[in-house]
Amino acid sequence: MAPNSNTNSPKNLRPQRLKPQSICNDDGTTEVGALTKREIVTKILKPFVKQFSAETDGKYIHVAPAGTTGVHSAHIRSIWRGGHMKTKLIGALACLSLSAFAANAQDAKTVVQNAMKAMGGTNLKTLEFSGSGSRADQLKDGNTPGPRVLVKSYVYDVDYSLPASRVEAVAIQGIPPMQTIGEEGHGLQYVNASGSEWFAWDVGGLPGLRVPARPKDWLEIAFPPSVKKPGDPIRQPDGDGLQSHSEMDRVEQIWLTPHGFLIGAMKASDTSVSQQTIKGEKFQVVSWTGPNKQKITGYIGPDNMVAKVETMVDHWMYGDEHVVRTYDYYEYRDGIQFPAHMVETITTPALTGEKALGLELYVTSVKPNITTVDFSIPQGVKETPAAPPATVMTQKLGDGLYYLAGQNDCSLAVELKDYVVLVEGPLNDARSLALIAEVKKLIPNKPIRYVVNTHPHVDHTGGVRTFAAIGATIVTQQANVPFIEALLKTPHTIIPDTLQKTPNAKGEVEGVQESREITDGTRKIEIYHMKGNLHSSAMLMTYLPKEKILTEGDPWTPGMVNVKATDKPYQRCCDAQNIYDNVKRLNLDVKTIAPIHGRVDTWEHLLVYLGMPPEGASESKQSGGR
Ligand SMILES: [Zn+2]
Repeated sequence: MAPNSNTNSPKNLRPQRLKPQSICNDDGTTEVGALTKREIVTKILKPFVKQFSAETDGKYIHVAPAGTTGVHSAHIRSIWRGGHMKTKLIGALACLSLSAFAANAQDAKTVVQNAMKAMGGTNLKTLEFSGSGSRADQLKDGNTPGPRVLVKSYVYDVDYSLPASRVEAVAIQGIPPMQTIGEEGHGLQYVNASGSEWFAWDVGGLPGLRVPARPKDWLEIAFPPSVKKPGDPIRQPDGDGLQSHSEMDRVEQIWLTPHGFLIGAMKASDTSVSQQTIKGEKFQVVSWTGPNKQKITGYIGPDNMVAKVETMVDHWMYGDEHVVRTYDYYEYRDGIQFPAHMVETITTPALTGEKALGLELYVTSVKPNITTVDFSIPQGVKETPAAPPATVMTQKLGDGLYYLAGQNDCSLAVELKDYVVLVEGPLNDARSLALIAEVKKLIPNKPIRYVVNTHPHVDHTGGVRTFAAIGATIVTQQANVPFIEALLKTPHTIIPDTLQKTPNAKGEVEGVQESREITDGTRKIEIYHMKGNLHSSAMLMTYLPKEKILTEGDPWTPGMVNVKATDKPYQRCCDAQNIYDNVKRLNLDVKTIAPIHGRVDTWEHLLVYLGMPPEGASESKQSGGR
């Protein structure tokens, strides 16, 4: 991507490399060990073997797209040394804190200054580092992480003085056939926190990159009016959109980088230091309060390098998240010491083990104090409101039957004799409170007794805690039950939500293995597991047999009826064919689809979308193919 990609030249590398340091976790367990090279190939690279060649010289594993050579290949080559896997050795390797004593601020600043000097960051104002690696994707089900996303290229630019940052990533998701093999997603994510109001924005679908055009009416649904065409910058306000806290999270990331941590510690007024001896190695443990009022703590090793930085952040669904960045294999590059390998874990009660493994990056290039990035806030982004209120736009589909749209995710409210069933509690606490208020208005004096959860992805599950707080039972596919239960127990102390403020909430979780019915004798809601769905293996759909209405969350987003060949990746995402397969398997007579994303549409339009002939015209003609 960058023209100057030959940054691996030997003169930039000092011969000695530092050993990775084992770091104790708060719970006394130790992160040790590494994936073997074989494990890296089978566990991380396997989904990509078709388009990537992976070769080892006995020491490193080099990855490159198959058939590429020269500069391009050199640019995306990454050095896989070890990988990362959290191995818990409870008790076997006791983490001993031999001494932990507070020291005065003077000591703390001296420790930080010494580290800064050793890491060559004393005059550091801007920094760019780049590399490749992998990151997490959405969960397959509540227990199972999705396949790792291969991050072909990752470029992080930061201006510590503003502060502002930009991440440019080219990633390939590993879930064929939802994504066409080899299709690359390209994304740019900015934050600028230099003024009193912070701005986070994304730029996607740059011209010349193979990102499929989004259909016109998708734009109308998902994007604010300032976005005129695909690729225009779009604000990601804190507390809205699919990311939980875009502004705060991106600013926190700045201070979690090795040099950013030290720069922040120099500026902070409450920087403190203590010492810990971990597995025989002494660490200076430096803490200061970050922008979201949580401690940011860094572990500085005997070599004066920042080995690990950790903090707590809020996520509207996952609650208080423990974010840990570990840095190892420091190398001297262009005047500063920088880790060649970094790993982020994000742990909560619902995100443990492999599910907690976030971005793992192998750094191939570091450029200190070269500012080429324009961090200025685009006009359209400035004009987008900070946090739009949760709006509910109601469409009546029948007596006691309401489609509740208005944001990225919709719900279906179904009135029964004594109570209401809501299909989907999406997004977050604010959306749920708005839905509860709207249901109260439309169907007075009846409680929401059940909330059907289609699948465990953040935008579909982020609101379930609020419904548990008002005593509703969350109905989900059996495999998601422990996950949702963990979500309901997760502390939300950083930004307390409704459930956090309702200590005696009675909300429960109920699993559906294959199917379940909710009925009052007059109206019936059928709930089915969508077998074989590629988007999530633990996916539910609902069907109202009297009204012939199907509700599904993600497999098809109506609004993309006139599909062209170039729309293929969108056509495949997120397994619309699976709706058809399950409807036929269950012999349902669907006339209308009231989806979680998009708009209410007809079964016939789904057939057009799938490239199938209309039903009823000639039964015999349908036999071929599907
Ligand atoms: Zn999903």
